[in-house]
Order: sequence, then C-alpha cells, then structure tokens
Amino acid sequence: MKRWLLLVGLSLFTVGLTQNIFKSPSSAEESTEIATGSSWRRASFPVENFQEYTSPFGYRSSPTGGYSTEFHRGLDMAAPNGSYIRSWWSGKVVEVSDDSACGTSIVVQSGEWEHVYCHMHGHVARDDSGRYISDREGGIQIWEGQQVQAGTRIGRVGMTGRSTGPHLHWGLKYANQLVDPALILRAMYTAQSQTQTISSQP
Ligand SMILES: [Zn+2]
Repeated sequence: MKRWLLLVGLSLFTVGLTQNIFKSPSSAEESTEIATGSSWRRASFPVENFQEYTSPFGYRSSPTGGYSTEFHRGLDMAAPNGSYIRSWWSGKVVEVSDDSACGTSIVVQSGEWEHVYCHMHGHVARDDSGRYISDREGGIQIWEGQQVQAGTRIGRVGMTGRSTGPHLHWGLKYANQLVDPALILRAMYTAQSQTQTISSQP
C-alpha cells in the first residue's frame, strides 16, 4: 500500500511536480480517500476487452521509424477494434478533437486531473448546442461540457490519427504535469484487490 504511494510520488517528482499530489479530485472527502488510497476503488479501468500494453509512458524510439526518440505522453492499451472506452473518473468533458496525431479524442477534467483518450472511432460534429464526438455505429454522442461518470462509455477503440493498430492511447495529467498511467492502474489494482479480499472474508 505505502509502496505505490512512494512510486507515484517519485514519478511525479521526476517530472518536476513539487506540490502535494493528493489534493484532488474534487472534494475534501475525496482528497482524504485518495491520500489513503481507498478511493481508487471508484476509478474505472479505461477500456473493455483489454489485450495488452503495447507502449509504455516515457522516452521511446519513434514508432514511425528513423533515429529520433520521442517522449510518449501516455500508455498504449491494445483492444479489438470497436471495443468501448470508459471514463476513468467522473468529471467534465473539456475538449473534443479530431484534427491532431491523437485522432478523434476527448479530454475529461476531474478536479486537478485531466485524462485524454485518443484514436477513437467517429469524428467531431457540431450543432446549435456545440461540439460533440459522433460515433453513430457505436451509439456514442459525447458533448463538450458534458458531465460523465466513472465507467461511462465515452467512445470506441479505433485507429484515427497517428496509429499503427487499434489501441487506446490514455494520457493523464495532474496539475498540468504528465503522470505515468501505469502507476495509477497499479494503485487501482491494489485498492480494488484489497476490497475483494476484505469482502470475501467470512
Ligand atoms: Zn500512445
């Protein structure tokens, strides 16, 4: 339990974040839960039918070839084309986009946290009420400004933008600093498996 806190702390330290990282997402009660690790139980794993991690967070050689290295700003999670993507945490959709290397994408803000989901199916559409992600085949319409819950289906795994195969690129920021999503998944796994252990005792 203490070990992942240390890992998260170290990771954030290495990206230059010096504030207390456990001030958010949105209420004092939640902050306390985050500090103790218990609230990670409320988080949702971000993709259905997950297969494998195909590219970690951090420096890597460019996947499109050449000798250059680049900083990979998220975690790549392979899943069959069309698998549903779920919002990691409840929050507000602050951006929808379809004109970058990230492809059809969505950014959700939860307190100090921002989570981004790339390479989804569909495109950005617009009407009198604003901009939204439209993925008709998947039955998805997600509006900029909309509130979503942890676990809400917000899109489907596709290959839009710069992508060599169907996967979710999942990025996380805390207080505008990048965080390695694998550390958060580990914390969630720890918290959720502890819950199961406790509840399965006679
Ligand atoms: Zn990626």
